[in-house]
Amino acid sequence: MGPGPSDIHPRVLQAMARPTIGHLDPAFIGMMDEVKALLKYAFQTKNELTMPVSAPGSAGMETCFVNLVEPGDKVIVCINGVFGMRMKENIERFGGEAIVVADDWGTAVTPAKVEAACCAHPDAKIVAFVHAETSTGACSDAKTLCEIARKHNCISIVDAVTSLGGVELRVDDWGIDAIYSGTQKCLSCVPGISPVSFSEKALDKVRNRSSKVPSWFLDLNLVMGYWGSGAKRAYHHTAPVNTLYALHESLVMLKNEGLENAWQRHANLHQELKIGLEEIGINFVVNEAERLPQLNSVWIPEGVDDAQIRSTLLNEYNLEIGAGLGDFAGKVWRIGLMGESCKKEKVLFCVAALKAVLGK
Ligand SMILES: *Cc1c(COP(=O)(O)O)cnc(C)c1O
Repeated sequence: MGPGPSDIHPRVLQAMARPTIGHLDPAFIGMMDEVKALLKYAFQTKNELTMPVSAPGSAGMETCFVNLVEPGDKVIVCINGVFGMRMKENIERFGGEAIVVADDWGTAVTPAKVEAACCAHPDAKIVAFVHAETSTGACSDAKTLCEIARKHNCISIVDAVTSLGGVELRVDDWGIDAIYSGTQKCLSCVPGISPVSFSEKALDKVRNRSSKVPSWFLDLNLVMGYWGSGAKRAYHHTAPVNTLYALHESLVMLKNEGLENAWQRHANLHQELKIGLEEIGINFVVNEAERLPQLNSVWIPEGVDDAQIRSTLLNEYNLEIGAGLGDFAGKVWRIGLMGESCKKEKVLFCVAALKAVLGK
């Protein structure tokens, strides 16, 4: 019950153990098409370019920035935690100029600040932000932020690694242009794959670049030869065949549950966790209105040894909770309620274990 990887359903693990077939086998290609359709459902999009990148969430992040940022591009980047900082690093490595909109750790991105930055930099090309900041547990208003980007003729890049499957996310309705996620958070699949989706507007920017995409592996123009629609599938790299079996199974399970039901389950169990934690005197870092249900950042109680409590939970209760990252190291715990880890019995177990180890 940390910040991911989350627990994995036996169905997904069993899917992964099926025999490995060729990455150009007709049966595999049929499954690729199903994975793309299931991802469109999960992202709530009709974007043709919706596919899994063969590497973890960080590679999805890099796919967005390496394809969309051209040298000299001004990019407005919102930083309210660790992952916003990584976005800035990506922008600068690909020759862009980062215009930072900073918010305090543990708070959402402030739309008015993004609006002000867009007005101050009318030549900006992109607005980038993290929907669900896993380092702090804050959820930003992706719909409003994308509206602001669109109004100022900017393409939006959204990090949805922790949000996909856990909270409301609607790529088409909200006008998101480029988005990336991960498999090991609320999708409850094994780590190592990054679903991405690009709008036509984002693809136009990629197609009209004046310089080549500086990464061969992540260049969408090349990747689409293998993953593209109706493409005569050509070898680009060897797909992680068994990991994609697992992703397919976890997406089928999400579809069977229903996306809205999954969002509601995360919201409901977050409430249960909140009641249980508050009863033993543990308080949340993020304001109620901006809290992510799937990533609960709580203050470590006064006088409590962070590392010792976490290792007791791990060794005696077989329960992992997350440590604080960056500015929050040693100050907060991060309790994940992601996908399969978001079950009533796990919430009750977590609260009982914390109560016992804290001697309450
Ligand atoms: C986990 C995470 C990532 C990175 O994903 P990896 O699979 O670890 O590479 C990026 N952004 C956010 C918000 C995350 O939570």
